[in-house]
Amino acid sequence: MDEQIIKKFKDAVEECNYIVFFGGAGVSTESGIPDFRSTDGLYNQKYKYPPETMVSHSFYMHHTEEFFKFYKDKMVFQDANPNAAHKKLAELEKRGKLKAVVTQNIDGLHQKAGSREVLELHGSVHRNYCTGCGKFFDLDYVMKQENVPKCDECGAIIKPDVVLYEEGLDSSVIARTIDHISHADMLIIGGTSLVVYPAAGLIDYFNGKYLVVVNMAPTPRDKNADILINGKIGEVFSAI
Ligand code: NAD
Repeated sequence: MDEQIIKKFKDAVEECNYIVFFGGAGVSTESGIPDFRSTDGLYNQKYKYPPETMVSHSFYMHHTEEFFKFYKDKMVFQDANPNAAHKKLAELEKRGKLKAVVTQNIDGLHQKAGSREVLELHGSVHRNYCTGCGKFFDLDYVMKQENVPKCDECGAIIKPDVVLYEEGLDSSVIARTIDHISHADMLIIGGTSLVVYPAAGLIDYFNGKYLVVVNMAPTPRDKNADILINGKIGEVFSAI
């Protein structure tokens, strides 16, 4: 790792008091959860349908059994634990430096690490609701039900509160995200390919001093970064 760039990042963190983190699946790969677009990510494994199809709203509606098979096998990692990146972000929030974590992840690992202001653009595997009566269920209930999970009150299908392809984002989460990003003096983008919209477009609201990008593969925003670090996010965050 380039010591000079790490020092620059560290000094900038000390200087800033309204840090916002914007992350994606790459934040959790060091916790053992595969991302979508890395070489060992889900897009490079062979399935009957492309992953983007299998996590779409129409697939959930028309191939519900197959949807839940893929979802339970490949999208839910109940035993995963936060890594150094999740933990450092929680620590920066406790110190009053970081004001929000905005994540495209659905794994709940930021909360597990102790982060409090977590804006989940794509929802969470930990929240599930009955499509008939609205009753809420935890992840354990969904995972223990054989195949398609059904409500114990009305028998209707339980849907995970995750945003599938073809579904819209929650407007209150978007509003809070825009508010945080537009007030930030540092925006750290990490572990995301920045190709999933509208989520990736939200970083355009940043107008602060330091744009930091920490990612393994190049991203479309590398050229705008004040601090650009190509590396593993857990290792980078351990060093600051
Ligand atoms: P992506 O798979 O498109 O991109 C991940 C990026 O992270 C890649 O550019 C990769 O180079 C980088 N990366 C991987 N491991 C890294 C590491 N250790 N350190 C630094 N960079 C690393 O992921 P995305 O941009 O988040 O978009 C995919 C969508 O899939 C998101 O909407 C997300 O909701 C969903 N998803 C979520 C999870 C999860 O909750 N953990 C897992 C897979 C996919």
